[in-house]
Amino acid sequence: MSKKIALVTGGTGGIGTAICRRLSDDGYVVVAASVNQEKAEAWKEAEKASGYDFATVHIDVGDFESCQQGYKQVAETLGPVAVLVNNAGITRDGFMKKMSWEQWHEVLQTNLDSVFNMSKVCLEPMLEMKFGRIINISSINGQKGQMGQTNYSAAKAGMHGFTKALAQETARKGITVNTISPGYIATDMIMKIDEPIRNQIMEGIPVGRFGKPEEIARTVSFLADDEGGFITGANLAINGGQHMC
Ligand code: NDP
Repeated sequence: MSKKIALVTGGTGGIGTAICRRLSDDGYVVVAASVNQEKAEAWKEAEKASGYDFATVHIDVGDFESCQQGYKQVAETLGPVAVLVNNAGITRDGFMKKMSWEQWHEVLQTNLDSVFNMSKVCLEPMLEMKFGRIINISSINGQKGQMGQTNYSAAKAGMHGFTKALAQETARKGITVNTISPGYIATDMIMKIDEPIRNQIMEGIPVGRFGKPEEIARTVSFLADDEGGFITGANLAINGGQHMC
């Protein structure tokens, strides 16, 4: 049987790299979608040195046309995408009083429009295959809200509604749609927070540490599995007990 294709947006980032590696270990042909092609090429070479052979594709996830073109390129060279991981994301933090419309819009476009864009281009081929896994990487802050992040919290919360609606639409078509909501994971996104604030955050995590990217990747692997067909419209919170609901 030929290998399934998995496409990971933001695949070259902290959590994205762990997801790509895990899915590759699971036997998928893995494509990392990235907006920065120069960075992607360097990443691909570095991963090769670690024994991983990834394909890369240039996609700006906030731009529908770019998603269409990127998907076409992947489908023509490798085949239809069976597993889509909507992982690309950005932060543009600021209290509402000072947040510009641009800060709002950029985060909504990259973190939420992206989920529509990529799911839309992957859906038809998944329907034809009668199989698909769409895994949306949300955030603890989309569940509980976070001051200074009205944009990010709104975008990540929006993913949950999207997931549950699409999961209902595709439930009988072999396609599952789920979210993962990571808590604080030790990637650049978190490590660039000032140390005193970081330490304060850590004190609020019951398990007493930040999560590891591999812990998110493991859950992606679980949801992507052929045997995961009964899990749909779900949200798996992976946050060290910081937010329980
Ligand atoms: P990184 O900043 O390491 O990775 C983000 C990735 O998204 C990068 O590869 C980046 O690509 C890509 N990206 C950004 N904008 C675009 C775009 N327009 N088109 C395509 N790709 C884009 O972050 P993390 O690995 O930490 O985060 C991954 C996901 O997990 C995000 O959605 C984040 O919100 C979520 N998350 C992270 C948490 C954490 O603690 N780290 C906690 C909760 C959720 P490039 O480098 O090429 O710009």
